[in-house]
Amino acid sequence: MLISEIFHSIQGEGELTGIPSVFVRTSGCNLRCTWCDTPYASWNPEGETRNVADILRTIEQHPATRHVVLTGGEPMIAKDIRPLAAAVRASGRHITIETAGTVAPQGIACDLASLSPKLLNSAPDALEHATWRRKHEATRWQPEVIRAWIDAYPYQFKFVVARPGDVDELEHMLAALGREIPRHKVLLMPEGTSLDKIRSRAVWLGELCKARGYRYAHRLHIELYGNQRGT
Ligand code: SF4
Repeated sequence: MLISEIFHSIQGEGELTGIPSVFVRTSGCNLRCTWCDTPYASWNPEGETRNVADILRTIEQHPATRHVVLTGGEPMIAKDIRPLAAAVRASGRHITIETAGTVAPQGIACDLASLSPKLLNSAPDALEHATWRRKHEATRWQPEVIRAWIDAYPYQFKFVVARPGDVDELEHMLAALGREIPRHKVLLMPEGTSLDKIRSRAVWLGELCKARGYRYAHRLHIELYGNQRGT
């Protein structure tokens, strides 16, 4: 499978923030978010082909770290993602899968489904990337796939929010699922890869979270390391 990078870091997003983790980033994505923060795994996928045994050996170079994050790109379209997850599970580690929720789990080994459905703010430019815009818009929101995840696994939602109106959009999406989603499981993350941008959006996003009961989600890895690969 095509692997963009494997690195040892601190989980910077979501309810496991702060936990040392080995990140396995697959390369390739079925979406093309305009603000994608890992274009080397999406718009311009790069990496090297590695097999499951080789990936597991790299993970095991960090024996004190018991959490593994399968991320991307979109890890669920990666060849051999299921055998990889099974191998990580067999090694006794905790598995988080960070996915946009456009591919059904079909029994994949997973301890935390970190679901990040994309909002309209992610759509690529209609003139510059017309074909990708059509594909992206047809793919990014699949309620039946999201239901398959949340009915089978512990989960969290992470939404990337760029403007206050995004919260109305995500509320409609959550309502369309027809499930009771506790608001503390819905994390709202300010869009941005620089501290200045994140902090400026944190002001109004924090107030929105207080008013509606969602969980504000920072990006600890950007505080700690800046927007760098391998962190
Ligand atoms: S889903 Fe993730 S990896 Fe894919 S384009 Fe969007 S932000 Fe980038």
